Parts: sequence; structure tokens; C-alpha cells
Amino acid sequence: MGDDLSAYREARDLEETGEPEGDEGGASSSDGSLFVVQEHAASTHHWDFRLEVDGVLRSWSVPKGPSTDPSDRRLAIPTEDHPLEYADFEGVIPEDEYGGGEVIVWDRGRYELLGGEEEGKPATLAGQLEEGHATFALHGEKLRGGYALQRFDADEDEERWLLVKMDDEEADARRDPVSTEPESVLSGETVDSLAEKAVGEGGGEADDGA
Ligand code: MN
Repeated sequence: MGDDLSAYREARDLEETGEPEGDEGGASSSDGSLFVVQEHAASTHHWDFRLEVDGVLRSWSVPKGPSTDPSDRRLAIPTEDHPLEYADFEGVIPEDEYGGGEVIVWDRGRYELLGGEEEGKPATLAGQLEEGHATFALHGEKLRGGYALQRFDADEDEERWLLVKMDDEEADARRDPVSTEPESVLSGETVDSLAEKAVGEGGGEADDGA
């Protein structure tokens, strides 16, 4: 495929974490413009914001999660590209593995690029991201309307972005879906309910002594 998922694969032991290997050719429903937000109750709780670009999920870790209020500027820290199949992943990653903690699909849908060539911007999301300013509309169950990702340089080594709701008819400063809509759009689970189930199942695999 030529997609470079080596950073993804090197960071984790996929047999231990149960996460997808990224060799199955993508999520079945993908049409090239998938977005997904996964809530991840790792040691530092965050929301992973992912956009399909050229066959992989470009990814940012958003510590406070996405907002529907245009006055909020949410820090978004780039992380390694993930395989498309990751958009289907929910589960409990063992605590001692990279990214340990519960993961749910908090929102998912299609995105639509905004501001193409006629507005003097690159006509692809990859091109806009390269320039450090991307605008797109989300068509999710919780997140809708225009969003912008803006790159800024925190220092010479660390790239940082801001995820900001654009001021359109879907903007709503009173909504706070990160707090009030915690359920997975796939399963209805929350990170807390997954954690409780994991405890109920014994919290992990038994030692079979083999
Ligand atoms: Mn994560």
C-alpha cells in the first residue's frame, strides 16, 4: 500500500493490545473522507481526533476533547498515523501497553473539505494540512459543521495544533458533548462502562502457566 504505519506498529505490541494491524485494506464503510473521534481513558485522558488522508488516519490527541463553542481553542497534539481499521476499534488496552486504557468510538462520520482552490487554498486535505491550516465540515452524530485545524510552533521540536469550531449554524456554546454525550456511537458503551466490564471479567487474562 505504501502507507507508512511503521511508527504505529513500532509503538505497540498488537498481539497484547488487540488493536488492528492495519493490513486489511481499511474500514469497510470508508469512502476516503472518514473522521473518527475516540475517547481514550489512558493515564492522561484524551480524545483522539482522526481524519482519513491518503489511506491512513492522520491523528491528533486532544486533551480536552472537541468543542462546539467557537470561542474554545482546543490543543491538538499530533500523534502517529493509524490504520483505517482503527476507526472501528473499541476496547480495553492493557495498562502496561502503549496507550493503555479504555477506548470508545465517541463520534464518527464523513468530513467535507472547505475552502478549496477557488478560495486560494489547497484542494486536498493533505495539502491544507501541509500548509498548517485545514478547514472541513464534519458530518458526525455529535460533531457537525465547520472546524479548523491550525498549526503553531510551540517550540522548535514540538508541533502543536489548535482544533477550533467555526462560527456557523452548527456552533453552539451551550452544548458540551464531551461531558453530556459520553456514549459510544457504535456500542453505547462509555469508557467507564467498559472499565466496569473489564473488572467484572477479572480484569485481564488468567495466567495459564503454559
Ligand atoms: Mn489515544
